[in-house]
Amino acid sequence: MPVAAETGLAIALAIVLLLAATCVALLARARSARGGLDRLRQRERGFRLALWASGQRYWDFHVPTGRLRYLVARDDAIGQQHDFSSEPADPAAVIHPDDLPAVLDRMHRYVAGETPEFSSEHRVRADSPTTTRGHWVWIRARGRAIEHAADGTILRLAGTSLDIDRSRAAERENRIASEVLRSMNEAVAVLDRHFRFLSVNPAFTRMSGYPAAAVAGRGAEILDSIQHEPTRGRVMRDVVEREGRWSGETWLRRDNGEEILCTVEAATVLGSEAQGERMYVLMATDITLHKRAEEELRYLASFDSLTNLPNRSLLAERLSRAIVRARREGSRVAVLFLDLDRFKDINDSLGHAAGDRILRAVATRLQQAVGHGQTVARLAGDEFTVVLEDLTGPEDAERVAREIIMAFEAPLEPDDGQEVSVSPSIGISLYPDHAQLPTELLKRADAAMYQAKAAGRRTYMRYDDSMESEIRRRATLAGALHKALDRSELRVVYQPRKSLESSRITGAEALLRWTSPEHGEIAPADFIPLAEENGMILEIGEWVLREACLALQRWRQHGLSDLTVSVNMSVLQLLRGDFAEVVRRVLDDTCVPPSALELELTESVLMANAAQTAIKLQAFRELGVSLAIDDFGTGYSSLAYLKRLPITTIKIDQTFIADLGHDPEGASITTTVIAMAHGLGLMVVAEGVETEAQARFLAQHRCDEIQGYWVSPPLDAVACMALIRNRQPPGSQAPLAAGAP
Ligand code: C2E
Ligand code: MG
Ligand code: MG
Repeated sequence: MPVAAETGLAIALAIVLLLAATCVALLARARSARGGLDRLRQRERGFRLALWASGQRYWDFHVPTGRLRYLVARDDAIGQQHDFSSEPADPAAVIHPDDLPAVLDRMHRYVAGETPEFSSEHRVRADSPTTTRGHWVWIRARGRAIEHAADGTILRLAGTSLDIDRSRAAERENRIASEVLRSMNEAVAVLDRHFRFLSVNPAFTRMSGYPAAAVAGRGAEILDSIQHEPTRGRVMRDVVEREGRWSGETWLRRDNGEEILCTVEAATVLGSEAQGERMYVLMATDITLHKRAEEELRYLASFDSLTNLPNRSLLAERLSRAIVRARREGSRVAVLFLDLDRFKDINDSLGHAAGDRILRAVATRLQQAVGHGQTVARLAGDEFTVVLEDLTGPEDAERVAREIIMAFEAPLEPDDGQEVSVSPSIGISLYPDHAQLPTELLKRADAAMYQAKAAGRRTYMRYDDSMESEIRRRATLAGALHKALDRSELRVVYQPRKSLESSRITGAEALLRWTSPEHGEIAPADFIPLAEENGMILEIGEWVLREACLALQRWRQHGLSDLTVSVNMSVLQLLRGDFAEVVRRVLDDTCVPPSALELELTESVLMANAAQTAIKLQAFRELGVSLAIDDFGTGYSSLAYLKRLPITTIKIDQTFIADLGHDPEGASITTTVIAMAHGLGLMVVAEGVETEAQARFLAQHRCDEIQGYWVSPPLDAVACMALIRNRQPPGSQAPLAAGAP
């Protein structure tokens, strides 16, 4: 370690200095003893032997001539005698060409009196018989003036040089080693045989918080963690002492008391053997964060990061365990598969960040609704699953499904404070009634959920065997629908709308029909959701709009100029793409004035986010197109909400009209809606009017228009035009009581 190396180096240096001093003294003495030649020879021999023994060389340099002389000591042939000779040398031939200018410069600076001593480290050509020719060795040369001219200028220098090649290499290695230690990311500490700190690297300081000076001389037990047995540190050190090493994971304590988890390698290093010195090196890496990340990963593998609910894999595990328990105890398990209605549209219109906030709010609401003892998981997107255990009967699961739906009646309040209404559709499957395996149970619950969606959403459905085939049928239908437009299997029919005040037919609603050669007549309620799911509604919707405008234009050409046509618009059309632009183009192409077109949107769609939809709808109003809310009363909006939307018409849903004769509540809802809509300046249309009594009731309560079988079923464009022509009252003001619709 650096400590030992530095000590060694210092000792070597001291020896060299000592020897150099001896040499200079001997030289001086030799010069002064001109008289006694024998004594001089004797001394010179002694001096040469001292030089030889110390591995140094004597040199002298004559400044005016630039001549260099060496006193070379060599082993004689049998290696016992010492043969000394003085050899002249050319500095340019002896000194490494790269070093020569610097050496000469140092020499001149000394001669000029700028330095008190000549001293230089440089390479010279090796002349030892053991070294290869052309090989260079590092030496340290030192010398002083030994002869001056009368004017005091230096004539001759003499000194010694020492081979420092090896110590220089060792020093370099040491430097590299300590540099490596300094730059290492691993904390390294060197400890003495009593496990007291000798030195540490910067990474150790970073990891432990202890600066080098703060640990020097202190025992390694300052790192012992309180999380382990009190004896653990001692035991570890005993192992290193006995077996030479220890490695493993352990908690260590930082200077501020914080605990960190580390991988530690401790090993014995034997220092200089002569001194029997034993030291320990400890290398540690902080893996606390790594460990935490690992735990997080494990968490991520089982929990959904958005909602913190269990994810699909943890759900599968819990469901499996629930099934095992139920089998043992002869009880039931229910799987509730829950999908949010029209969540895709909400996500598209509000953006994904808002969508995420809503999903988190849904997760919380759902967990509250079913209680914290039950598993609520998020599978993907807007799909959630609830596992209910210990059910006494299937009714228990249905009760929970009802409670969930009720829990979503109140709008959600995601953390951005913007209220949003969402409703779930729920499918239920039961163990052991419907399946034995977790995957099968999930599949069945999913199938039942689809049925709940088909049944009008915001409801629940228990699985039954027919559902499997229903799902297959939907898949085939979706495939067939792709070709329907190209194969001219779609057509549009028109259902007239009649004014109660004037008895005039004011217009007609365009309704889509699909007759498939393979599947027969398919109701819009069956195929429109499919077209919405796969996005085909965009293309189909535009086609319906064009057809409806063309029909209206033909009627207008036949003199029926005061008519409007209503076209149903899917939420997808509202939210995706630039439907307002499509509408403007179609109106242009067909020469229909915007005021003759009305677009119908269902209430639930509009209410999901009133503020956002209002902006979208404004584009249509600016075109001059009328906007109607379809199926009003089936969603859970209030008329107050409608004030925010730029709509012109409300179409009361046919379920309320059907109730008119026998359900007082239906009647009061209808009359209230009419009154309030009028209060807001909106026109009111009643849908599904089938009887004269219903029409009379609506007329009494000042409903503006009616639509339904009592006026006419939907007809093709030609038949519809004929009907409108026939029904137009001569004076155009015939009262309703006049008889036929
Ligand atoms: P909607 O817009 O509320 O259309 C009225 C529905 O009530 C039509 O059903 C119509 O045939 C039916 N109906 C009319 N009069 C009576 C009546 O007196 N009694 C009863 N019980 N029903 C009556 P349809 O044609 O099956 O359409 C169902 C729904 O499909 C429509 O409801 C509308 O939401 C959607 N739809 C139809 N065509 C299109 C379309 O081109 N695009 C879009 N996006 N949706 C459409
Ligand atoms: Mg409609
Ligand atoms: Mg309707």
